[in-house]
Amino acid sequence: MLVTVLGFYGGYPHDGIGTSGYLLQADGKKLLIDCGSGVLNALSKYMKPTDLDAVVLSHYHHDHTADVGVLQYEWLAAKKENLLPIYGHTQDFVNYAQLTVENATKGIAYNDYEPTEIGDLKFEFLRTVHPVPAYAMRITDKEGKVLVYTADTTYFDGLVDFAKDADLLIADTNFPENVTGRKAHLNTKEAGTLAKDAKVKRLMISHLPQTVDLETMLSQSQKYAGDVPVVHAFEGLEVDL
Ligand SMILES: [Zn+2]
Ligand SMILES: [Zn+2]
Repeated sequence: MLVTVLGFYGGYPHDGIGTSGYLLQADGKKLLIDCGSGVLNALSKYMKPTDLDAVVLSHYHHDHTADVGVLQYEWLAAKKENLLPIYGHTQDFVNYAQLTVENATKGIAYNDYEPTEIGDLKFEFLRTVHPVPAYAMRITDKEGKVLVYTADTTYFDGLVDFAKDADLLIADTNFPENVTGRKAHLNTKEAGTLAKDAKVKRLMISHLPQTVDLETMLSQSQKYAGDVPVVHAFEGLEVDL
C-alpha cells in the first residue's frame, strides 16, 4: 500500500496547499481518500484523475469534499464508460445524494457494522465524535498491512482499539497541545498519545493548522508518541506500507 499526501490543512487551503486528500495505491487500484479543496489539482500531478478506481469520503465537511464537484465534471467531460464509485455514509442524505451524477459518478453507502471491500482492500469504519457524522477508516490490504485514518474527531477511547497495531496512523492533529477542552479535533498530545497507546508503527500528523509552525506540531506530537516515529504531512509525502 502506498499513501501519497495531496493536501493536509484543516478547514481551508493555504499558500498553494490544499485540505485533506490522500492517494492510496494498492494491488493495482488507485483510491482517493477524501477530496478537499485543492486536492484535484494536486492529484493531477501524479495521475489522470479519470483513472481513479474509487473515492472514499470520511464526512461531508467542505475541507474533505470541496473538489468532489469538479472531479465529477472532469469525469463527465472524459465521457468514461464506467462510473466513478464514491463511497460515503448515509447519515446526511442531502450530501449523500450529491455523490451520484448521471454518466459520471455513483454514490455507494458504507456503514460501521460491516466492512466494505474495495478491490482487495477491506475498509472498516468507526463513527467518530465530530459536529457532523464522520467516520474513521481502518484499511487492510491482502498482505495484512493496515492503514488507519482518524478522519476528523475529538478524542474518545474507541480510537485506541480501532487504531491498534496499525502500520500507519494518519491522525487529525489540528491543534497544538495548549488547546484543550471541548473541540472538534485532536491536539498534538492526543494524537501522540493515541499512537503510543495503540502501538502503531508510524504516526503521520495531518489536518494541520495554518497558524502554528509544523515543526512545533511535530515535536509536540513526538514527545507524547514515545518510540513511535512521527512525521508531519506535506504535499507529496509518500509512505509505503
Ligand atoms: Zn476537516
Ligand atoms: Zn470535519
